[in-house]
Amino acid sequence: MTYDANNIFAKILRGEIPSHKLYEDEYTLAFMDVMPQVDGHCLVIPKVGSRNLLDAELSTLTPLMATVQKVARAAKAAFKADGVQVRQYNELAAGQTVFHLHFHILPLNEGQTLRPHSGKMADHGVLASHAEKIKKAL
Ligand code: AMP
Repeated sequence: MTYDANNIFAKILRGEIPSHKLYEDEYTLAFMDVMPQVDGHCLVIPKVGSRNLLDAELSTLTPLMATVQKVARAAKAAFKADGVQVRQYNELAAGQTVFHLHFHILPLNEGQTLRPHSGKMADHGVLASHAEKIKKAL
């Protein structure tokens, strides 16, 4: 399986489509998921084009995991969550729908259930306000 640079996250990286950005450094970008499974659901991606975890170089994963930890801490704090789930899917059979490596960050409270994966598009005003909360906690 090869990497296709026409995927939606590659377009976000190139600035061809908009996103609610949370954090960016030389190697990584974090932004809000547009179909959040919980309030504060966000994504962390590498700038390098890997299809998923299976083809990624270690040099991609090291800075990526640092950003995953940073954003997970901030999302948990911003939403006063009891915990935070980190999810990552590899290939269609495993639930992957966008073929640019990404980690889902899901702040969760005790007993809280997730909305469907790739479900309902959120209101952009709501996403912007959730992004502000996480940015403040970063
Ligand atoms: P998956 O590949 O199954 O791990 O999930 C891809 C995720 O990307 C889903 O949670 C979608 O809601 C999310 N998504 C799809 N398009 C966009 C977009 N343009 N901006 C932000 N998130 C997106």
